[in-house]
Amino acid sequence: MIHDEMYHDFSPFVDSEVKMPVLFVGHGSPTNAIDDNEFSRAWTDATKAIPRPKAIICVSAHWETDGTRVTAMERPKTIHDFFGFPQELYKMHYPAPGSPSLALLTTQIAHGFDIREDSNWGLDHGTWSVLSHMFPEAEIPVIQLSLDRTKDPEFHYALGGELKALRNKGILIVGSGNIVHNLGEVVWKDTAYDWAIEFDEIIKRLVLSGDHDSIINYPDLGNSAQLSVPTNEHFLPLLYILAMQDKKEVIHFFAETVTLGSISMRSLRIG
Ligand code: ZN
Repeated sequence: MIHDEMYHDFSPFVDSEVKMPVLFVGHGSPTNAIDDNEFSRAWTDATKAIPRPKAIICVSAHWETDGTRVTAMERPKTIHDFFGFPQELYKMHYPAPGSPSLALLTTQIAHGFDIREDSNWGLDHGTWSVLSHMFPEAEIPVIQLSLDRTKDPEFHYALGGELKALRNKGILIVGSGNIVHNLGEVVWKDTAYDWAIEFDEIIKRLVLSGDHDSIINYPDLGNSAQLSVPTNEHFLPLLYILAMQDKKEVIHFFAETVTLGSISMRSLRIG
């Protein structure tokens, strides 16, 4: 006799011959959700180069938890997790469905990692400010994966490596953060500190050379690293995406600007 609990319906997410690319997106200001600018246009264009996903998992800088969580509700709410921005932003909703079956699959696919289902979060602006440009029709199911705030960068890279198998099941995995993110130094104009450009370029070089160890150990990269990553929640989503790179897979940068003084919008596609 087959017990029900051994028998989960993952039928929408079977292995396919197409390996999905993975994306890291520098999301920057929440206002990019409503602006028509070089970044929002780059995000829209980025989807033209990838097959239509069956579902999307977003690792957002804006969801930190004790332990790793994955949103498992049918209808994730749009979370407006920012203050002092235009009213128009608070009226925005991204009504994409969730995917309880993909959430369950995610908890089971990462061997040695304790990922738990969550029914309280939803989609924060790290996810919807970007997806509202990439997939404006909001028809593709979206789930979010949290960042375990108690873990070191090696943990996040290792977990990303375990989730790589989802690429073969038609799932688009998106890391949403910023390589350089120092809110204390932000200036509200299009400018860039030398140290921000320096660190962004260092990471670009390391990404292109495949030196992930040096990226994981970013605090050793000098003074520009300390200034660019004062807290690492915006940096960590990049580690998930890099961990999913297969040998010889090509990197394509679809945004490369440092703006607001201390925010790098660098965004990349692997595969
Ligand atoms: Zn952010």
